[in-house]
Amino acid sequence: MRNAERVGGVGRRRAIVVGGGIGGLAAGIALTRGGWEVKVLERAAAFGEVGAGLSLWPNGLRALDALGVGNRVREQALAETQAGIRNKSGRWLARTDSRELARRFGPVVMIHRARLSEILRAALPPGTLFADTEVIRAGLVGRQVEVEHGAGVLRADLLVAADGIGSTVRRSLWPQAPAPRYAGCTAWRLVVDTGRRVPAGGVSWGRGEGAGMAPLPDGRTYFFCVADAPEGQRSPGNELAELRRRFGHWHDPIPRLLAAADEETVLRHDIFALPPLATFVTGRAALLGDAAHAMTPNLGQGANQALEDAVTLAACLDAHTGVESALAAYDRYRRPRTQWIARRSQRIGSVAQWHSAPATAVRDLTLRLLPNSAFLNAFTPVLRWQPPDHDNLSAAHTRP
Ligand SMILES: Cc1cc2nc3c(=O)[nH]c(=O)nc-3n(C[C@H](O)[C@H](O)[C@H](O)COP(=O)(O)OP(=O)(O)OC[C@H]3O[C@@H](n4cnc5c(N)ncnc54)[C@H](O)[C@@H]3O)c2cc1C
Repeated sequence: MRNAERVGGVGRRRAIVVGGGIGGLAAGIALTRGGWEVKVLERAAAFGEVGAGLSLWPNGLRALDALGVGNRVREQALAETQAGIRNKSGRWLARTDSRELARRFGPVVMIHRARLSEILRAALPPGTLFADTEVIRAGLVGRQVEVEHGAGVLRADLLVAADGIGSTVRRSLWPQAPAPRYAGCTAWRLVVDTGRRVPAGGVSWGRGEGAGMAPLPDGRTYFFCVADAPEGQRSPGNELAELRRRFGHWHDPIPRLLAAADEETVLRHDIFALPPLATFVTGRAALLGDAAHAMTPNLGQGANQALEDAVTLAACLDAHTGVESALAAYDRYRRPRTQWIARRSQRIGSVAQWHSAPATAVRDLTLRLLPNSAFLNAFTPVLRWQPPDHDNLSAAHTRP
């Protein structure tokens, strides 16, 4: 990694990607494979072990295959064998038929975020990724795009804003876009080593609170909790005590996970979502990932959608001769789908967070009565996604 300031001029078909998260790295790979000269600018000085587990669904894995890294990801991931929804006493309300899901769509896998980031970074050509490079403004200059970072200005033929939910590029180029909204709940994430793998993953729903877990390939457990809370509330140095107070009496192995957890590893983030945008593109700039459609995490699809975005964007650019018409096609393909998934995720989140005892009793009973096939059918539109086909993308209806 080098700092962008030291790179000097750029050649033809140049793209700047702002943000080196999952979406930005994936976009960098996809565009490079499409023949673009790419610079990925990331404000963080280094890529550490920060993060937690991440679920990759069959749609996200297909996007990773299209980027040429699917098998490397599978090698570093663990396929889900048991998941579903329990109540706080551990009674199963709904079980995911993981075998049938894998048969129909391919497996769901869990990976540590740091491993996924490493694999994506390794797939970028050397000299593409510039750490410690914060973009402070973006602009459209004629048919070019421009970004200003701490030490200078870069111009290119395409700008991909993958700088997350608080996107600086979105604030610069989409001044009318609504601000992210607090979803009313906060999430804790941690990776715990209890010395033995948890037998089943899945989520557990209570009243205004929930927890979830998934085994990781290295034997550790990814554990997360969600609770309704005022925005910004924190218990500095005592987040683990707060988790033990709230969830320490929930079903096994939750108390065991909390007993083995280390305060230092607890991440806490309030959950925000971005209201639907009228467009993901302007001039020669496109929003991607959370910058375009940050959603509540209830479907575990945010990063998977960012991967789909990256593959689709590169495919649209490949299929169209003009950047503007390619971006118009990208917007047509990605906006309806991601906004629909965000709405679904938000709806599931609001049911999961219900408070009232009668309402949660009805919810839990309904879940127990639903056949397994209902869950698989509900997921079908999300999971059956395929990387776009060149012929479809260049078809007349995607051309202006
Ligand atoms: C509790 C929780 C659990 C989740 N679980 C899952 C899951 O299991 N599966 C799933 O698919 N999704 C999950 N998600 C969602 C997922 O984390 C996000 O959708 C995904 O990480 C978005 O990736 P991104 O690259 O678009 O944005 P980000 O990950 O936010 O990356 C943006 C990058 O841009 C950089 N950046 C920001 N501003 C600038 C700037 N001005 N200049 C340069 N760089 C900048 C940041 O440092 C960062 O590296 C979860 C989210 C939460 C909150």
